[in-house]
Amino acid sequence: MPSFRDLLQQAKARIREVDTSEAEAEIAAKPAVVLDVREPDEYEQGALPGAVHIPRGHLESQVESRITDKAAPVVVYCAGGTRSAFAADTLQQLGYTDVVSMAGGFNKWKNEGRDWSTPQTLSPEQRNRYHRHLLLPEVGEAGQQKLLDSKVLLLGAGGLGSPAALYLAAAGVGTIGIIDMDVVDDSNLQRQILHNVDRVGERKVDSAKKTLTLLNPDVDVVTYDVRLGADNVLDIIDGYDVIVDGTDNFPTRYLVNDAALLKRIPVVHGSIFRFEGQATVFDPYKGPCYRCMIPEPPPAELAPSCAEAGVLGVLPGIVGSIQAMEAIKLLLGLGDTLAGRLLAYDALETSFRVFKVPRDPDCPACGENAGEIVIAEYDELCMPHPSSQR
Ligand SMILES: [Zn+2]
Repeated sequence: MPSFRDLLQQAKARIREVDTSEAEAEIAAKPAVVLDVREPDEYEQGALPGAVHIPRGHLESQVESRITDKAAPVVVYCAGGTRSAFAADTLQQLGYTDVVSMAGGFNKWKNEGRDWSTPQTLSPEQRNRYHRHLLLPEVGEAGQQKLLDSKVLLLGAGGLGSPAALYLAAAGVGTIGIIDMDVVDDSNLQRQILHNVDRVGERKVDSAKKTLTLLNPDVDVVTYDVRLGADNVLDIIDGYDVIVDGTDNFPTRYLVNDAALLKRIPVVHGSIFRFEGQATVFDPYKGPCYRCMIPEPPPAELAPSCAEAGVLGVLPGIVGSIQAMEAIKLLLGLGDTLAGRLLAYDALETSFRVFKVPRDPDCPACGENAGEIVIAEYDELCMPHPSSQR
C-alpha cells in the first residue's frame, strides 16, 4: 500500500514543477491561466490577481467548464505546493497539456513580496440569496460577482421592461438604469407587473425603483424620468454594459441603435404585437444591427403602436423574460446569444421560430463603408440615415 509520501512523489514525477519566479515569468509571458485550488477561506484572505478559484475537492467536476481550452497554459498553486501537485496531475489526466504546479505555493509567493490581492467575495447573505446561481459552475461565485458589478439599462418600465427588470434585479445585476417618462395608469396593470394600484399616478421610474429595491436591496436602481432623445442618449447609455430595449416606436429604436453602435454596447431587442413576440440581440460590429434587419421603418399605418393595438398581457412577460436571459448571457459570456438570429414566438400556436438575420455589408450604420455615425433626431420616417448626414 503506497503512503501519502509515495503518492506525492509519484504525482510530482508525472508533472512539471516551477518555482515562484518561473511561475511569475510564465504568467506574464504566455499569459497563463492561474488556478487556485485552496479552500474558500484561504482564497478569501488573499490570492494571485485574476486567479480562477476551484477548491481541490471540486476540481474534477468544475474545471472543464471553468477552463475550457485544454491546450491553455495553466499555473496551479495552493498554499505550499502539495495540493497543487496532485491537482496538476489530475489536470493532465483530464487532458490539459500545458500544466505546471507552483512549488512553495501562495505562502512563498506572498513572502517574497510578489503581487497578490484580496479577492472580492460574496457576503454570507449574498451566498444564500444567490445559492442557486452558485451551484451552476458556468456562473459560480465569479459569475455572480460579475453580475453584481454589471450595469444594465432598461428602455421603458412598461410591458417588456417590467419582467426584464424584475428578473435582472432578482439575479443580482448590481446597477439597473431605467428610463421612462410616463406615469402609472390603471390600464398599464394588465401587463406592467412592476407597478400596482397604489402607484397609479406615480412616475413609472419611481414605482419601478420601489418594487426592485424591495425585491433586492443589492441593486442600485438609477432612474431617468426623461424623454430619450438625440440630445441625451449618448450621456445616458454611457457606461452601461447592456441595453434592454422595450421601446415601441421606430424613431427611438433607430436612435438607440446608432448610439449603441457608437458606444459599442450590445442591445437586447424585444417587441410584441397582439399574440406575437420577437426578440434578438444586436451586438455592435459582431452581429447585425437594427438597421441591418430593418433598413427603413414600415409606413405608419402598418405599424400601429402598442397603444393602438391590443396585446395579451402575458406576452410581454414571456418576451421580456427572454430579454433578461439574453442580457445575463451577454454579461457572463454564456452560450450563444440571439445575435444574428430573430426569435419569433406565436402565442396562439405556441410555437417558437428562429430566423437568421445576416449583417448587411452595405448597412448605412455598421457596414464596411458606413460613414461616421452622427446622432440626430429622427422623424417618424427615421430618415435620413446617420451616415448621409456627414
Ligand atoms: Zn447594421
